Amino acid sequence: MINNNNNNNNKINWSLIEEKWRYRWDEQQIFNSDPDFSKEKYFITVAYPYPNSPQHIGHGRTYTLADAHARYMRMKGYNVLFPMGFHYTGTPILGMSRRIASGDKELLETFQYIYHVSEDAIKSFVEPIKIASYFHNEIKLGMKEMGYSIDWRREFTTIDKLYSKFISWQFNTLRKKGLIVQGSHPVGWCPKDQNPVSQHDTIGDVEPDFNEYILIKFKLDDGYIIPTATLRPETIYGVTNLWVNPNVEYVRIQIDNNERWIVSKEAARKLEFLNHKVAIKSSIYGKEIVGKYVEDPIRKDSIPLYPASFVESNNGTGIVMSVPGHAPYDFQAIEDLKKNVSLHNEFVGLKVDVTPITIIGSDDYYYADVNDSILISPAAKIISKFKVKDQEDPQLEKATNELYSHEYYKGKMLQNTGKYVGMPVSVAKDMIKNEIVSNGVAEIMFELINKPVRCRCGTECVVKILNDQWFINYGDKNWKKLAHECLNKMDIVPEEIRQEFNYVIDWLRERACARKSGLGTKLPLDEDWIIESLSDSVIYMSYYIVAKYITNNNSISEDSSKLMIHVNNVDALNDSFFDYILLGNGDVRQVAAECNISISLIEAIRNEFSYFYPLDARHSGRDLVQNHLSFFIFNHVAIFARENWPRKIVVNGSVLMEGKKMSKSLGNIIPLRAAIKEYSADAIRLAMLSSAELLQDADFSFDAIKGIRSKLDDIYDIALEYSMVKSKFGSSLFSSIILSEAKTEIEDRWLLSRLQNHITDITASMDNLRVRKALHDILYLLDQDLQWYRKRITAKNRDDSLIAVTLSIFLDNRIRMLAPFAPFISEEVWEIIGGKYDSIIFAGWPIVDEDKRDPVAEESEQLIINLISDLQNILKVTKISPTKIIIYTSARWKQQIYQKILEYILLENKTNFGDIMKELVKDPETAKVKNDPKLIRNMIEDILSDPIEARNRRLKLTFFDEIFPLNDAKKLLSLESGNAQTEIIVHSEDEIQKYDPREKSKYSRPFKPAIYIE
Ligand SMILES: [Zn+2]
Repeated sequence: MINNNNNNNNKINWSLIEEKWRYRWDEQQIFNSDPDFSKEKYFITVAYPYPNSPQHIGHGRTYTLADAHARYMRMKGYNVLFPMGFHYTGTPILGMSRRIASGDKELLETFQYIYHVSEDAIKSFVEPIKIASYFHNEIKLGMKEMGYSIDWRREFTTIDKLYSKFISWQFNTLRKKGLIVQGSHPVGWCPKDQNPVSQHDTIGDVEPDFNEYILIKFKLDDGYIIPTATLRPETIYGVTNLWVNPNVEYVRIQIDNNERWIVSKEAARKLEFLNHKVAIKSSIYGKEIVGKYVEDPIRKDSIPLYPASFVESNNGTGIVMSVPGHAPYDFQAIEDLKKNVSLHNEFVGLKVDVTPITIIGSDDYYYADVNDSILISPAAKIISKFKVKDQEDPQLEKATNELYSHEYYKGKMLQNTGKYVGMPVSVAKDMIKNEIVSNGVAEIMFELINKPVRCRCGTECVVKILNDQWFINYGDKNWKKLAHECLNKMDIVPEEIRQEFNYVIDWLRERACARKSGLGTKLPLDEDWIIESLSDSVIYMSYYIVAKYITNNNSISEDSSKLMIHVNNVDALNDSFFDYILLGNGDVRQVAAECNISISLIEAIRNEFSYFYPLDARHSGRDLVQNHLSFFIFNHVAIFARENWPRKIVVNGSVLMEGKKMSKSLGNIIPLRAAIKEYSADAIRLAMLSSAELLQDADFSFDAIKGIRSKLDDIYDIALEYSMVKSKFGSSLFSSIILSEAKTEIEDRWLLSRLQNHITDITASMDNLRVRKALHDILYLLDQDLQWYRKRITAKNRDDSLIAVTLSIFLDNRIRMLAPFAPFISEEVWEIIGGKYDSIIFAGWPIVDEDKRDPVAEESEQLIINLISDLQNILKVTKISPTKIIIYTSARWKQQIYQKILEYILLENKTNFGDIMKELVKDPETAKVKNDPKLIRNMIEDILSDPIEARNRRLKLTFFDEIFPLNDAKKLLSLESGNAQTEIIVHSEDEIQKYDPREKSKYSRPFKPAIYIE
C-alpha cells in the first residue's frame, strides 16, 4: 500500500537515466524543427556563448530558462525552434593564446586546475582557433548534458565563411540606409592594443562609460592657463577659488601650438588621446602655485589657488574649480582649510578669505531678505541639514547628490548670472556650455566615469577620439524613433526592465564597430578593419534558418534530392542571396543564376525564413540590456520589415554561489559539466530556476541543491510505488473505470479538484515566465496535497482501485508540468507510470478538466484540515489526553445568516458591522440576531479572514453539510488527537437529543464547528 513511511530508498542512478534519455532524444531527433504549416511556430534564441572557457554554473541560468521556455511551448503544441551557435568574434581568444604563448602562469593554472584541460590541449592553445574549438566542443557537450532541447543541425560559428558573407550583407544594408558613418567620435580605448574596447574586451566585462566634461580656462598672470574640468558649467558664476594638490607634480605644456597650460601628467596624456597636440615643457609642483591668483573668464575676478589633498591627479586636469555656494564638498573644504591653515608650515601666511556666492535659487534652498542679499548659501544649508562634520564625512556624498539634482530640476539662475537670470538650471547649463566653448574660454574633454576600466591585456583604458573611423550611428533620431516603436510593441519580461531599454535607446550614440585585430568579418567598406563582437551578433537569429542548409566539410553529399548548399559553393553567394532570402527583394531567377544555386533551394530557404521569422523570444542576461539587446532591436528595425521585428525579450539576473559573486579569486567557479556529474542535470536546472525571481540574482547553494535532489528522489519513489499499486489491479484498470461513475470518496474528488486549480495557476505563471512561482507550486504545493491525500486514505484504511486511478491522474499531470524544468526525471517517471508517448513532450501541457472541479469536496477537506488544527491547538493549550471528542456543527439558521452576510460582503461590498446588522434586523426572517451581535461580529471576521477563493467558493454553495465529511474523517481525527482510541462524536447544534454537558454547541459557527473534549 502507498505509505509515507515506506521509504524504498531506491538509489537513483541519475547518470544512467540522463544518458538513456539523451540517446533517445538524439535517436528520434526530437528537437529538430522544420516548417510545419499545420502548426503555429515559436522561435526562441539565447545569446550564443563565447568559447574561451568552459561554461560554469553562472552561465547556465539564461540557457536553462530559455530551454524550459522552449520545452513549455513545445508541450503547448507549438512548433518550437531553439538553435545554438558559437561566437568566435573579437580579441579575447586572441589575447588568451598570446598569454599562453608567453607562459602566463595565472592563465595556465586556470586551465589546468579550474577547467581541468589536459596538458596537450593547453600546448595547442598557442593557436587561437584551437582554444575556440576546444571550448566550443566542451560547451556543446555541457549543453547536451544539461538536456537543452537544441536543433543542432543549425549550429555555426561566427567565423564560418557564409556567416561572414551574412555580416558583410548586414553592414552593406546598414550603409545603404546611411547608418554607417565615418567620423571622429570618442570610444573606450586600449593604448597597448591600439583598439577600441567595449564590454567583451575588458576584465570583469565592464562597458567603458564616459562623459563630456567642460574644461574651463583660468588665466595665471604669467600667461599660463589652468583648465579645470566640471560637469556643471553653469556654476562658473559662483567660483571663488581653485583647488590644487600641493604634492602632485604637474606639467607645463604647449597645447595645439597655441596655448600654454598647467595640468597633471595624467591629464597631458589623456589630452593626447583626445586629439590634442601636447608638448611638455617643464614640471611644477602644486605647492609652487598655491596662493597665486588666476583670472576667471566670465566675471574677470581675481581668485586664489588653495591647497587641497583631495584633488586627484588622474581626474580631469588635476585642478578643479571651487563653488562653495553650491558644492557641499567645496564649502566644507573651505571651512576645514580655515581651521587648519595655521597647522601647515608651508602655507603660513596664506589668507583664506572666501564668501560663498549663491547663483541658483529654488524654493527650498534659497534664503534671502528683502534686499535680496543672500544670507545663507544652499551648500551651507544642506551641510547643516545632513550634519556634516568634515571632508571625510560620508554624509557629504548624499548632501551633494541631493543638492545637485534638486537644483538641476527645480533651480533657477539668479540676478548675478547676467543674461541667464530666471532660466531653469537644466536649460542654462547647455546654453552656458555652448557660449563658453564657442568663445574659446572652455573646451570639451571626455573622461571615463567608471574608471579604472582594464582591457583584457591588463592595460588601463582611456577615452580616445577616433578619427575617420567607422561607426554605427545609433544617435540617428529617426532610427531611435523606429527602435522605440518596436520596443513599444514588444513584450518585455519582466516588464519593469522596459524603462531601462527606453533610456538606453535615447542615450546611445555613435558606436565604433570595428577593431584592428581579432577574429571576425572584415568591414566591407574598409578591409583593414574587423567588425567587432557587439556588432556582428545582433541579427544572427535569422542566420539559423540559412545555417541548416549548408553541408559541413565532412559530408560531401552528392545527393541532389537534398536541398543543400555545398560548403565549397559558398564563394558564389553574394548580397542578392540574403536580400532575397531575408527581405524578399529581387528576382529569384536572377539570384539563382548569380549565386549558382537552384531556384527550389532558394525558395525553400526563403519559405523557411518566412515561416520562423519573426523571433518570438530572445533570452539574455540583464547586463546586456545596455548594449547587445538594444543593438538587437536597433538592427532589426533598420534591416527588416515591420512584420519581422522581434516580439519578446526575456531578461534574467545572474547567479551567486553561496551568496557570493563567482570569481576566480574566490575559487568558487564550478564548471557546469563537473556539477552535472556530481548533482545531476535536473537538480542543477531546478536550483537555478527556483531560487529567484527573473531579475534577482539566483543564489546557488549546495544545501538547496541537495534539498531539490531529495524532492526529485521522492517523485521518483512515488512513481515506483504507484506502478506497484497499478500492477496489483492490472492494466485494464484505466480503460474500464470511468471515474465519474465510480464510487469516489471525498478525498479522491478533492485531490483532482485541487489539481485543476494548480494547473490554472501554474499555466498562468508559465505564460508570464514566472518560473520560480510555477516551480514552487509544482514541487511544494502539489506535494502538500499529495501528503494530505495519503493521510486520508491511510486513516481510512482504503485499499481500492480508485486510489490508483486518482493517483494516475495526479502523477500524470504533475510530471507533465515538471517536464520543462526537469526533463530527464520527467521522461523516466512518465515511462514508469505508463505514459502513452515516446516522450513526455508529446503528451502536451495539462489542460484543466472543468468536470473535475468540485467545490464541495474542497470545502469538506478544508473543514477537516481546519478542525484538526483547532483541535491540536486546544490540546496543546489544555494538555488534556482525550478519550472523547464531541464536535458540534452549527444550526441551520446560522448557516442561512452566514450566507446572507457573505452576499453583503461579496456582492454589495459591505463590510461594516453596523450596516450588515441593520440589514439583518430589517428582515423578519433574520431579525432575531439583534440579541446576538457577537455572533454576527464573529461571522464577519471569519469571512474577512478567509482567502478570497474560499469566500467565492462558499458563495456558490447554497447548502453545505458539515456532518458528512466530519464523520468521514473520524478515524483520522482520532489519530490526530494523539490517541487512536479517542471516540469522535459529531452532532448538529439542531439536534435536540445531543450530548452537550457544557453547552458548547451554541458556540458553533458555519465552517467553524465547536469542540468539546473529555
Ligand atoms: Zn589591451
